[in-house]
Amino acid sequence: MTTKVGLIGWPVEHSVSPAMHNAAFGALGLDWRYHLLPTPATELEAAVMTLRRGEWAGANITVPHKEAVIPLLDSVSPAALIIGAVNTLLTRDGALVGDNTDAEGFLADLTEAGFSPAGRGALVLGAGGAARAIVYALVQAKCTVTIHNRTPARALALAAHISRDVDVSTVQAVPHGVPLQELDLGAFELVVNTTSVGMWPHKEESAWPEDCALPAHLTVYDLVYNPAETRLLRQARSAGLRAIGGLGMLVHQGALAFERWTGQVPPLPVMGQAARGALTVSRG
Ligand code: NAP
Repeated sequence: MTTKVGLIGWPVEHSVSPAMHNAAFGALGLDWRYHLLPTPATELEAAVMTLRRGEWAGANITVPHKEAVIPLLDSVSPAALIIGAVNTLLTRDGALVGDNTDAEGFLADLTEAGFSPAGRGALVLGAGGAARAIVYALVQAKCTVTIHNRTPARALALAAHISRDVDVSTVQAVPHGVPLQELDLGAFELVVNTTSVGMWPHKEESAWPEDCALPAHLTVYDLVYNPAETRLLRQARSAGLRAIGGLGMLVHQGALAFERWTGQVPPLPVMGQAARGALTVSRG
């Protein structure tokens, strides 16, 4: 019997995950299949119940269900609990376990790109769902983190939440009304954009103001992966900086889910190539 995994979210039709995982199953000769499971909020509980049937090994969870799914599970990993979001479900002896591979996937990609975060200062732009995993990851990796968000209260709440749960004093939020232009950028070696600014179809927008010079010592990481080359990455490259796009994190978080489900070493190059191919197709 073919083993099933899938993606629960709404909407999900533009996801690159089926292409990425099915290519990986094919490359390893596994009789597994990744399915899209489009699920409005009213059907989340039923979709989770479906996973309790024998042929399912687990699922990915995406927007808008990453938080809402938590009470429907039997247990949740410590990282997913602190982040407050589950992006991967595993079935273990009939129980459904929630995990989060975004934080680990981000750190894997960041270090693969040659940036080692320990002891460095990071400026995180945004305080939404993705920011929670990124701030958690950076704090775990012993970075000092400053959060700047359009809505400062969300940045403050995120800083307070992470400080409380991981017991550190290395995370702070930029106070209300302080623009990026007024920050001492010398305190940072890494800027991570976790906002959705610059995402397709608004690809000419950037989370970084044009009138704010990017100092040459910075590394810039943009979580946005569609388009692969965002305006922010172009700004960073033209200032001579190391600039990393979000596709690598997407592939690594998927590879970590693949490893948890199958117990096999994920074929990263195959997954990366499939994800890039699927993105090109979905952009038309
Ligand atoms: P989200 O929860 O909706 O958060 C959006 C964030 O962007 C908030 O901080 C919001 O600020 C900010 N924002 C939105 N529009 C803005 C604007 N015009 N100006 C300034 N700030 C703005 O979204 P999310 O789930 O965190 O996702 C954010 C991005 O990360 C998306 O592009 C997503 O595709 C990407 N992502 C990538 C990966 C990956 O593997 N590479 C994984 C997860 C997410 P307010 O708080 O003020 O509203």
